[in-house]
Amino acid sequence: MRIRAFLALPVVLAAAALVPQASATADPGVAALQVGLHARGLYKGPIDGITGRATQRAIRRLQARARITVDGVVGPKTRRALGRFARHRLGTRPLRIGRAGWDVASLQFQLAEHGFPSGTFDGIFGPHIDAALRRFQEWAGLKTDGVAGPATLGALTRPPPTIPLRLAWPMTAPVLGDRFGPRGDRWHSGIDLPAPMGTPVYAARAGEVVWAGWHGAYGFLVAVAHGHGERSMYAHLSRIDVRVGVRIGRGVRVGLVGATGDATGPHLHFEVRVRGACVNPLRALP
Ligand SMILES: [Zn+2]
Repeated sequence: MRIRAFLALPVVLAAAALVPQASATADPGVAALQVGLHARGLYKGPIDGITGRATQRAIRRLQARARITVDGVVGPKTRRALGRFARHRLGTRPLRIGRAGWDVASLQFQLAEHGFPSGTFDGIFGPHIDAALRRFQEWAGLKTDGVAGPATLGALTRPPPTIPLRLAWPMTAPVLGDRFGPRGDRWHSGIDLPAPMGTPVYAARAGEVVWAGWHGAYGFLVAVAHGHGERSMYAHLSRIDVRVGVRIGRGVRVGLVGATGDATGPHLHFEVRVRGACVNPLRALP
């Protein structure tokens, strides 16, 4: 039944899944620029690393305010107009707790692209970036010292993790809401599937239930480990139907759609992790 349901998905959804995500073309330097422009109240758009119209306008506004040539091109003078924030390019100094600026914002964006987001993109190296950096270092097999030096920055130039195991849609007739990737001034770590309250949510693949309960912003959350380090997560549930430690098959109902935790309306936040790194679930779905 479910198989038939997702074969009947609108063509738009199937086609959209094939389109490369914004993260593929995003530039961490542009993301850092956006953070700097945002901090000065010149930019209200998403921190997405893409020089769109809103970013262009913000650059020109900055240039006009600094009384330099208004050409929308970010050269040395424009960087200087951003003050202390833009002084250090990524890779020119080791980054650790207490640092702030352009290079930290670049690092923060790269960590998110690799599956380790750290809340609001602010370019301030606090405990949130420290935790994300250490998790990335562990994931990459590096020394987990919380210092972003050449080895860590080198590892961040390699592509983000791929998904080893295919998954099924966790819902019949799913509607795709917010995607994985930049969202406002944060990184959305999964996909949102808006659905009426109480809609059944199904395991996307067989595995062991490793979490079934409250988890902060996720609200009522179920996490299932599938092997090969891959986990699927079902958040904001109104009810949980499985217990930790139980092995379940694909298509088993894990709970019902809700709006618990940090959710503005009923939807399933579906997240996939590979050895702790958030990956784009659409890459694992048919
Ligand atoms: Zn979400």
